[in-house]
Amino acid sequence: MAERPFVVVGAGLAGAKTVEELREQGFDGPIMLVGDEPERPYERPPLSKECLAGSATLDSAYVHAPDWYAAHDVDLRLETPVTRIDRAVHQIETVDGVRHDYAKLLLATGSAPRPLPVPGGDATGVHYLRRMDDSRRIKDTIGSVAHLLVVGGGWIGLEVASAARGAGVDVTVVEALPLPLQQPLGPELARVFADLHLEHGVTLRTGVTVERVVVAGDVAVGARLSDGSEIEAEAVVVGVGAAPNVGLATAAGLEVADGVVADAGLRTSDPDIVVAGDVAEATHPLLGRRVRVEHWANALNQPATAAATMLGADVRYEELPYFFTDQYDLGMEYHGDIGPDGYDDVVVRGDSDGREFVAFWLRDRRVLAGMNVNVWDVGEAVKALIRSGVQVDPRRLADLDVPLPTS
Ligand SMILES: Cc1cc2nc3c(=O)[nH]c(=O)nc-3n(C[C@H](O)[C@H](O)[C@H](O)COP(=O)(O)OP(=O)(O)OC[C@H]3O[C@@H](n4cnc5c(N)ncnc54)[C@H](O)[C@@H]3O)c2cc1C
Repeated sequence: MAERPFVVVGAGLAGAKTVEELREQGFDGPIMLVGDEPERPYERPPLSKECLAGSATLDSAYVHAPDWYAAHDVDLRLETPVTRIDRAVHQIETVDGVRHDYAKLLLATGSAPRPLPVPGGDATGVHYLRRMDDSRRIKDTIGSVAHLLVVGGGWIGLEVASAARGAGVDVTVVEALPLPLQQPLGPELARVFADLHLEHGVTLRTGVTVERVVVAGDVAVGARLSDGSEIEAEAVVVGVGAAPNVGLATAAGLEVADGVVADAGLRTSDPDIVVAGDVAEATHPLLGRRVRVEHWANALNQPATAAATMLGADVRYEELPYFFTDQYDLGMEYHGDIGPDGYDDVVVRGDSDGREFVAFWLRDRRVLAGMNVNVWDVGEAVKALIRSGVQVDPRRLADLDVPLPTS
């Protein structure tokens, strides 16, 4: 009887890296990588940055060269949505009704943009940004409109605003909270990004929501806001967050909370099914709770653990959450996770007005998270501070004459 393959569902970064890790860790059995997109696996961060700005092509975003999969004996199936997992018989079913056996299954189904739940939210000219095609369309749009409305002042919305301003487009960003990025950064540091965008000519409309997209024919021509005002725009980009693709896991009876629940080895409630990337809500040994991280580095790094677990090793994923963004001339990296109890102090080391600083979020004088803005090579020190859990002196932490501890 043929050996049952290791099957990976979701051909994004986490899926691609898992098959790479399986081969690197010595697995020489059959591997199938199944994705629903027409493209082989690619990375998404460039889609809202250099690919929109025109300084890189979409071709640069692929994880592997086209011949890598055949060369590593990976059976790559594109445009093949998986519709069902039948755990009792260890099979998946694809959209064409074909069933495939698995020995171990990796779920890396990622996440999808949350829709804008208002009238006109699906009109022509309303764009979401997740896939290569979306990036292509939004780049064309930026090249052809005078005024763009961005709904949602999160990371993707602000990156699109930055690219559009770079192309000379008038941009209005509508954000429900008092400041863009207030939810992930808090008001103290969100202000830095609001100022950045205001200085680059973006119109920020905060504390208001979009009540409906104004449509002429079936084309978006603007939006009506909750304060009764109207904004004219020739196109709309919606960036109001993403939701994990948990449908398959839920239907298969796996434990699902915010994402697919997993232990520190990324094993789900079924020991033959492992998760990685945006969809995984895994116990984090250092943070002492489950976290689901919707960021690139998590999809890049979890696969080493996921593959090892599939191969029967006893391993734990312990990397701290990490995120980066590039907007205009600002580059930022963020390590850590503030967590449900929040922070009680923010320390800024450097010049936040000049946008060259490291910020720390503290609770009980312990560092929960750190963000370096236009300051580089401090990531290891920031991570060491978080990992150590030691109490710090906020004044010394802010003092540029006092070196950051390195371990
Ligand atoms: C525009 C954009 C910019 C970003 N920028 C940054 C950034 O600057 N920094 C950062 O840290 N993070 C960034 N991210 C987040 C980062 O890209 C994600 O965290 C990462 O893509 C997650 O990888 P993944 O493999 O888990 O999921 P995904 O990349 O979502 O891949 C999952 C794949 O599985 C497929 N799939 C889902 N269901 C099925 C099914 N039933 N059958 C078959 N296939 C299925 C999906 O279509 C998709 O192709 C950005 C995301 C986007 C969209």
